[in-house]
Amino acid sequence: MNKSSIAIVVPMYNEASNIERFFDRLVPAMTSPNVALRIICVDDGSSDDGVARVTRRLRTLPEGACVVQLSRNFGKEAALLAGLDAALKTDCDAVVMIDADLQHPPEAITALMEAWKEGSEVVIASRTSRAGDSISRRFMTRRFYRLINWLSDIPMVDGDGDFRLLSRAAVEALCSLREQHRFTKGLYSWIGFPVARIPIEFESREAGASKFRLGHLIALAVNAITSFSVKPLRLAIIAGLIIGALSLATGTWITFQTFVHGRQVPGYASIFCGMMFLGGAQLIGIGVLGEYVGRTYIESKSRPPYMVRRVISQEKQ
Ligand code: UDP
Ligand code: MG
Repeated sequence: MNKSSIAIVVPMYNEASNIERFFDRLVPAMTSPNVALRIICVDDGSSDDGVARVTRRLRTLPEGACVVQLSRNFGKEAALLAGLDAALKTDCDAVVMIDADLQHPPEAITALMEAWKEGSEVVIASRTSRAGDSISRRFMTRRFYRLINWLSDIPMVDGDGDFRLLSRAAVEALCSLREQHRFTKGLYSWIGFPVARIPIEFESREAGASKFRLGHLIALAVNAITSFSVKPLRLAIIAGLIIGALSLATGTWITFQTFVHGRQVPGYASIFCGMMFLGGAQLIGIGVLGEYVGRTYIESKSRPPYMVRRVISQEKQ
């Protein structure tokens, strides 16, 4: 049997309290003699001593392990891209992305690899339950997936996260998309490739807190919608048309009343309400438009999604 080379990409942002335990579980979980493992940690501008801890452990990890240290915090999506880019520079046949907080059980990687060997280019560790999340976060997540699937033509499945295996070809496809506002979950769907899903029970975060607070999640949702759909612009047009038709109907009705009854009702309140409503509707329309124009502006600068400060390899430390 041919030996396959698998790169494990681990984004880390202030995960010092989890790192030791993460490696303690990852390495023994991957002892198959047919697999050459290469661990690529991406430090996303952590302010704790996570990099120092990983660096100390590097020598004990399988050959080729390294830390790609970004120059600041660029966000998980950019950190994942940095890891995938680094993986493509190696001879890996496939890449597995896994969080450092032990929510993704490393023992499941073997099952992902089996499905890959059977021919699936993308193998998703599909989350069976969101029991570890708060009720409000679960509620918002469900609404979000409803909304995004209604707005976008690319299907996105709740439970399909970043814990997945991608064949080298799929990684090359993903890395060829260099947009700055990355909504990776949408990009995974966009690139296609045959997908298999393996149901996995996710665990609770080992230590520390999730980096995704409400503000982040809202920004992520706006990013997802504007990256994958122009429907909000169309909805603004439809709303404009409906309001226009309503005002035409009201105008006709008032004219009719005036001709029949010959009187004009003093309409201060209705005029005021109408003005406020239209003003609000216009501002929303302009806001939606602005969101897209802003994105076009930022993308037009073609800045790279991340900057690497240094790469720490086993020999260098
Ligand atoms: N992460 C990152 N950069 C960030 C935020 C998070 O690299 O700006 C990493 C983090 O260290 C972890 C993974 O992405 O390994 C998932 O983050 P987190 O657990 O905070 O998200 P959640 O599991 O709550 O979605
Ligand atoms: Mg987590």
